[in-house]
Amino acid sequence: MRIDVITLFPAMFQGPLTESILKRAQDEERLEIAFHDLRQFGLGKYHQVDDSPYGGGAGMLMRVDVVVKAIESVKAEKVGRAGKAKPHVIYFSPHGKKLKQAKVEKLAKKEWLILLCGHYEGIDQRVIDGSWIDEEISIGDYVLTGGELPAMVLIDAVARHIPGVLGKEASAHEESFSASLGRKKEYPHYTRPEEFRGLKVPDILLSGHHGEIEKWRKGQLR
Ligand code: SAH
Repeated sequence: MRIDVITLFPAMFQGPLTESILKRAQDEERLEIAFHDLRQFGLGKYHQVDDSPYGGGAGMLMRVDVVVKAIESVKAEKVGRAGKAKPHVIYFSPHGKKLKQAKVEKLAKKEWLILLCGHYEGIDQRVIDGSWIDEEISIGDYVLTGGELPAMVLIDAVARHIPGVLGKEASAHEESFSASLGRKKEYPHYTRPEEFRGLKVPDILLSGHHGEIEKWRKGQLR
């Protein structure tokens, strides 16, 4: 999968995407992520990207001309895995549909995502009213300073569903919110020691009766 991220702050992505599973996914070329600094599409000598809102009010808005130039440029690049794929453009916004596991699974099947991160007060509404965005996604009913953290959340959640990313032993199929668990929350897990400060691992898990264990686990779904 190819993911292009349009952001004013590409450095924010260092860390979450350069460690652990997401790092390996990129090293193994299962996931290809490119960052596009919105500033490079800015206007004039100072590469202006934002402006004050018509009608007044606090904060700055990202300009429609700058944002659209960035989206069109990224769409036209078609590098790497984006080659022949059709881009799916997502704008992160508290107005969007709340991200759920079923949506994550759908997005994981796409070959090419373009993620637009807002900042400040957000973006000029015309980016949304025009046909430049395929969908608006929210990660919850609260307001963040920018779309960068939502982009990282989405990349992380989606990457787990790309074949091979979790490795052989782990699977994204039987986890909280997965269809195979009826979209419920997963059963509890225990590992050694068998007893810790009086807290014991449920006997059933030590019994070796796989059928019974399965039954117990199903009963623990919430
Ligand atoms: N003025 C906007 C909030 C802007 S927050 C409003 O009141 O709705 C700045 C940017 O952060 C947004 O453009 C969006 O890209 C991102 N953002 C903030 N909260 C978010 C959330 N819950 N989900 C997804 N993106 C969010």
